[in-house]
Amino acid sequence: IHPAMEATTSLLDAAAVGDLVLLDPLTEESLLQTLQERFRRSNIYTYIGNVVISVNPYRSLPIYTPETVQEYRNCNFFAVKPHIYAIADDAYRSLRDRDRDQCILITGESGAGKTEASKLVMSYVAAVCSKGEEVDKVKEQLLQSNPVLEAFGNAKTIRNDNSSRFGKYMDVEFDFKGEPLGGVISNYLLEKSRIVRHVKGERNFHIFYQLLAGGSAQLLQQLKLRQDCRHYGYLNRESSGLPGMDDAANFRAMQVIGFSPAEVTALLEVTAVVLKLGNVQLSSSYQASGMEASSIAEPQELQEICELIGLDPAVLERALCSRTVKARNEMVLTTLSVPQGYYGRDALAKNIYSRLFDWLVNRINTSIQVSRKVMGVLDIYGFEIFQDNGFEQFIINYCNEKLQQIFILMTLKEEQEEYVREVPPTHAGPPLCCPQCGILAMLDEECLRPGVVNEDTFLTKLNQLFATHKHYESKETQNARRVMDATLPSQCFRIHHYAGKVTYNVTGFIEKNNDLLFRDLSQAMWASRHELLRSLFPEGDPQKVSLKLPPTAGFQFKASVATLMKNLYSKNPNYIRCIKPNETKTGMLFTPELVLAQIRYLGLMENVRVRRAGYAFRQLYDSFLQRYKMLSPRTWPHWTGSHREGTKVLLEDLAFPPEELAFGHTKIFIRSPRTLFDLERRRQE
Ligand code: ATP
Ligand code: MG
Repeated sequence: IHPAMEATTSLLDAAAVGDLVLLDPLTEESLLQTLQERFRRSNIYTYIGNVVISVNPYRSLPIYTPETVQEYRNCNFFAVKPHIYAIADDAYRSLRDRDRDQCILITGESGAGKTEASKLVMSYVAAVCSKGEEVDKVKEQLLQSNPVLEAFGNAKTIRNDNSSRFGKYMDVEFDFKGEPLGGVISNYLLEKSRIVRHVKGERNFHIFYQLLAGGSAQLLQQLKLRQDCRHYGYLNRESSGLPGMDDAANFRAMQVIGFSPAEVTALLEVTAVVLKLGNVQLSSSYQASGMEASSIAEPQELQEICELIGLDPAVLERALCSRTVKARNEMVLTTLSVPQGYYGRDALAKNIYSRLFDWLVNRINTSIQVSRKVMGVLDIYGFEIFQDNGFEQFIINYCNEKLQQIFILMTLKEEQEEYVREVPPTHAGPPLCCPQCGILAMLDEECLRPGVVNEDTFLTKLNQLFATHKHYESKETQNARRVMDATLPSQCFRIHHYAGKVTYNVTGFIEKNNDLLFRDLSQAMWASRHELLRSLFPEGDPQKVSLKLPPTAGFQFKASVATLMKNLYSKNPNYIRCIKPNETKTGMLFTPELVLAQIRYLGLMENVRVRRAGYAFRQLYDSFLQRYKMLSPRTWPHWTGSHREGTKVLLEDLAFPPEELAFGHTKIFIRSPRTLFDLERRRQE
């Protein structure tokens, strides 16, 4: 069905409109109603021009079959029902035929369906590009990287049973014929604090449960693991299994393409070490000097870890219970208190795991990497607001804020480019302004400042810096601004994100940003005979002790997000905006208030307005003429001149007001939806 036709049928039945640009009248209610009505009819996809809105159905729909793929293959974007395949096809064809690098930006809050959307795009592209043994191998590698990365990088959260806890950007590379040659994956800041702590009702990363549930008895024995996940301190001791997710089957089905058996073993050994570290218990004892010191409470677990990684237990014990510090040009070994010891242990577990994850991504990259025309798919963790928001949420939301900015910038740029190419230029939008960059910079400054650093001084500085910032609030600024219902707790600040206000608790910001790992621990890891583990701690080499502080977590993240934005900006964007219809993960349930909030913060109204600020509808001359030529005796049944001339003649005969139309080089532009509806009605008559 032509979306316009869908729209005309909908003159009587307004809710069926497939492209919101044609919505008439355009109001928040009509937009919401349209989405709801389409959703009710299982039409989860809707356009705003070439942007796809996807509303998560939370149940499997029969719309991803090979037949559907065929239907969308080389289709005219406007000739078939809105579908994520249409956007994938459009991007793929522009890449192949017009030689323009593409990127597909998938946004939406946690649980809205981004990861599923990115997989649908990938599988569509894999299905339509040509066949061949070499190509199939590449395709398989690209698709197969998903389960492994999800096992190590996803976890159950309150919002989403399969929530991405890292950002992923994948460039798929094609040759001039449009055959995939390989790809590069970039990953963004894994939420590593989850290794040692997660809130009730959530889980640690999937891999641990999968390994324990699906590993053979022999494998578990080799890794010195027990099958019962309740045995492990780092795992949620209450609930392990998840409805609808078969950990054991997932583990058995997981294939790590291109890895040697030895590499797989090494990968799992290091994973087991992380899990076992959480069971290393410390107890306090008093030294002869009366100083409190920690010691290993029960040596079994430590012993086994050391067997797995080929390390003298005494070395690890020493690194866990004491620390070398420099006192006047001399290195002195000092004992650690029990909390300090646990701090070091947890930092070690987090570091091992996140470095292992980086290694995994790099390792996958080496088996798929080459370089030519690219199509990037971005699936990053969604905007999140919890009861308690910390450093992780701050980072995740920072990234989403940046993406929203680039969405606006690029939509405007694109609109402008099309007009400039086709008809006279229009306006440019104002850039957004948010305090997050400044906050990260201030955090770094605090972290690098010698002397006593704590979160109170950090917050005080923020309050000074952003005393008058519209998007920043804290108890202090509220007081200064005489806000009547000053509600913020004293250790919190609040940011007005594009997607809503979020209150962040500064506790833990400094520690997480510093991401400090005692040097003794990295040296101990480097001393192991486990090749993979050792390679993860290059700074543990005593020959290479550097005095420079490593870059902070926030700094690294900011830099990688900046690179990402630059990369995206250089490409032709395609958008998928995901919407979460309910909070309970229920199939086909649509909660209007929830969707309305997302319509607002995804800026869909503005999106429609920008899109039709000039002309609501545009179409290539030949398809336009083909569809409407019956409306004029001069163009029916055959028009022999150019498509552009034919369109002119046709529209002259129909006597539309001239301001309704603009004739571009390749496309006809129609200003208001009514004109289009009018055309459609006449056509039907
Ligand atoms: P996060 O930001 O937490 O990673 P996300 O946006 O990536 O969230 P997904 O993991 O893609 O969310 O989706 C959550 C769940 O919703 C999926 O596990 C699946 O059950 C369901 N879902 C999403 N999209 C679809 C779809 N097109 N068809 C059927 N079910 C879907
Ligand atoms: Mg996801």
